[in-house]
Amino acid sequence: MNSATASAPGRVNLIGEHLDYNGGLCLPIAIDRRTSATVRRAAVSRRSSDVEPAGWTGYVEGVLAALAVDEPLDVAVSSTVPVGAGLSSSAALTCSVAVAVDALLGLGLDRDALAAACIRAENEHVGVPTGGMDQAAALYGAVGHALLLDFSAGSRTLVPFDPAGAGLDLLVVDTGVAHRLASSGYSDRRADCERAAAVLGLEHLAAATYEQLADLPEERLRRRARHVVTEQYRVRSFVAALQQSDWSEVGDLMTASHLSLRDDFEVSCPELDLVVTSALAAGALGARLTGGGFGGSAVVLCHADQRAGVSGRIIAEFARHARNAPTLYRVEASSAAAQVS
Ligand code: ADP
Ligand code: MG
Repeated sequence: MNSATASAPGRVNLIGEHLDYNGGLCLPIAIDRRTSATVRRAAVSRRSSDVEPAGWTGYVEGVLAALAVDEPLDVAVSSTVPVGAGLSSSAALTCSVAVAVDALLGLGLDRDALAAACIRAENEHVGVPTGGMDQAAALYGAVGHALLLDFSAGSRTLVPFDPAGAGLDLLVVDTGVAHRLASSGYSDRRADCERAAAVLGLEHLAAATYEQLADLPEERLRRRARHVVTEQYRVRSFVAALQQSDWSEVGDLMTASHLSLRDDFEVSCPELDLVVTSALAAGALGARLTGGGFGGSAVVLCHADQRAGVSGRIIAEFARHARNAPTLYRVEASSAAAQVS
């Protein structure tokens, strides 16, 4: 075999935001937007910096380094995952490359090993802290399912998730706002959470009880911790609501998650808030920011026959507030990374 091609999906986190590094729960889906990578044994050895301007090649080099590949490879990438929109184009890239390289070189690695390599590529090679949710979604997602990840137990469970079967649409709204302050804000939130956990004598903040919040000495730490504790509870309630096909409760929990991220965790921005308020005003069941926040995308749950009205309202409100037009598309829970040829 001289070449191998694999594709990997982007992801939307349905609920459980900023919980991965707090030892909590999150519930992403793999989406029907994918990155495809073809790797070939290269005739000549070239440095990637000779091939392309720096930036994206770091993710590829990071995967090759983590998989201890030392032979020269050509890598070609194409993608329908929007880049930098909070839908994890970076994990779609690393996971597609990892699966293709594993196939081409016959490494025989399991998915846990591939996930670890992709996490290391981002953490160590690119220098982006990533908690592991994105890579898990890309490597373990499934059609018609959400993936419940427990970062304390290290477990994962597929949960049936089929809004279309209930006459509903899941929409992604890309605000087009670059993740302003995303890296500094992310580090600040992590530091707050670590401090709150230390004060409470816990390894992970998600293990705190609501009663323990009163023991935190500062108002800001109490609010950060309140998001983590209540979000953890909301993920459990969300899974229970899915099992009962209680979509109205699912929507309410999404919106409650957004308000907690806006007011207590303070990672929203005016454009994300505008998506949520206009979607709800147009009759959506629920809406929330998805991903780290500070920009990027929101996710909206609405009746399929209300989709045009909800989309139109969001676009009109962005125009009225003199914001650049957002990009909207419907997504479905899709399949994990796989070799294509
Ligand atoms: P997100 O993962 O939310 O899309 P990140 O900032 O984590 O945002 O990752 C975006 C980066 O990943 C891009 O700046 C680029 O370096 C790289 N990347 C992702 N997908 C591609 C692609 N299809 N082609 C080239 N680079 C890509
Ligand atoms: Mg990313």
